[in-house]
Amino acid sequence: MNIYLADGPSEESFDDILPSFTLGEIYSPEILAKKMFFTLDALAALKLQRFRDHIHRITGEGLLINHGKLTRRGVRSIADQTAIAGKKAETWSAHVAGKAFDISLTREAGKYTNAYLYNAAKDHGWGAVGRYQTFIHVDNRDLWGGKQITWGENVNGK
Ligand SMILES: [Zn+2]
Repeated sequence: MNIYLADGPSEESFDDILPSFTLGEIYSPEILAKKMFFTLDALAALKLQRFRDHIHRITGEGLLINHGKLTRRGVRSIADQTAIAGKKAETWSAHVAGKAFDISLTREAGKYTNAYLYNAAKDHGWGAVGRYQTFIHVDNRDLWGGKQITWGENVNGK
């Protein structure tokens, strides 16, 4: 399927840009229903596919974004963001900008844990990397002053 991307130069084939992912893994239900595919940022998408390939080469595992009941881990609409963060919270999010993904390994084994994924994401040059108990957040925000933003270094869990 061909889609326009947020900062893309032209119409692009989703399957060419993100060959390992389905639309449902990337977009929240409201975006899928309204076909707001342009909400995905082109550079973030390319970085995500490169990161998945890199992780797969090393660990043999894939990356999970939206799966099962977790349907808002990738690109979100403003309504999705409000549902997650609450009405009083900031509605802007890198997820709404189409630049952020909450990801986990398809399977944790040996040294290939959530902590490993966090460090690999930092090395991969994502603009921001956050660690949570069962997933990590990565986004492709600009590195203002060349400084990567990280948080959650000391989260307990694997
Ligand atoms: Zn996130």
